[in-house]
Amino acid sequence: MPHPKPAVFRFAPSPNGELHLGHALSAMIGHDWAKRLGGRFLVRIEDIDVDRSRDEHLRSILDDLAWLGLSWEKPELHQSQHFGVYRDAAAKLTDLGVLYPCFATRGQIAASVGAAVAAGGREERDPDGAPIYPGLHRGLDKAEITARQAGGERAALRLDMVKALGIAKARLAGRPLTFREIASDDSERIVCADPARWGDAVLMRKDTPASYHLSVVVDDARQGITHVTRGADLYAATDLHRLLQVLLDVPEPLYHHHRLLRGADGRKLAKSTGAPRLKDLRAQGVTADDIRRQLGLRPR
Ligand code: GLU
Repeated sequence: MPHPKPAVFRFAPSPNGELHLGHALSAMIGHDWAKRLGGRFLVRIEDIDVDRSRDEHLRSILDDLAWLGLSWEKPELHQSQHFGVYRDAAAKLTDLGVLYPCFATRGQIAASVGAAVAAGGREERDPDGAPIYPGLHRGLDKAEITARQAGGERAALRLDMVKALGIAKARLAGRPLTFREIASDDSERIVCADPARWGDAVLMRKDTPASYHLSVVVDDARQGITHVTRGADLYAATDLHRLLQVLLDVPEPLYHHHRLLRGADGRKLAKSTGAPRLKDLRAQGVTADDIRRQLGLRPR
């Protein structure tokens, strides 16, 4: 019997640099899987960081994807054109009472964490290695918030993790917060999510009215993404994404976190560490089929 709804996959590059082999792997996995299931494949441009996004990178990304032989639905969704949607989602979370404004600067947070460690505390870090927010502005009183805002101070909006977990617990009515991880052989396992390890994460940044975590959850939901395929570096972020899905009352996609390509130094391939760009490989005469072979993917 055909699946009632077509599967929907997405590749979600950020146009702040050029694509390298790691991106090719990610894009091809999603694309090939979508085709195998007779599903849809979308490209979403994750450009909430408007200062770091460049038109020339965007053009090269789309060129590279076409050169790889991938096809996707047009037009692509550009997150920078949808800030209102992320604001609405933040407003929904504010109404639930799980967001609070945080005016603290990085320096103030670092100083507070440093002081706690000097006083004998243990330094806790989130899965990305950033210190867990020490709660500086959690519970700031309304008058102070209003005064600071009136004085032109900008605030990030942070998730009150304890409150958020409380609401999620009630909504899940005794069921644990989990996600479904599909392996390359289609086997599925249920993973327990532990969003608390992110602490009071920023959901609306000071410099842009969105955040990666919020926009990815909102867009995966409104684009009807059924399968989120992305690198294993985002595995831990899924815990937080699942919590946000419960709070925003949106469906749960399936997840597949694929292997990461590593350079000779053993580190994840990255633009910052000089991974060869697809553009350069192409100029050297490498073909899309060579790339498929090199990545161990089925030929087209
Ligand atoms: N935009 C993210 C990146 O370039 C990918 C986000 C995702 O797939 O969830 O790393």
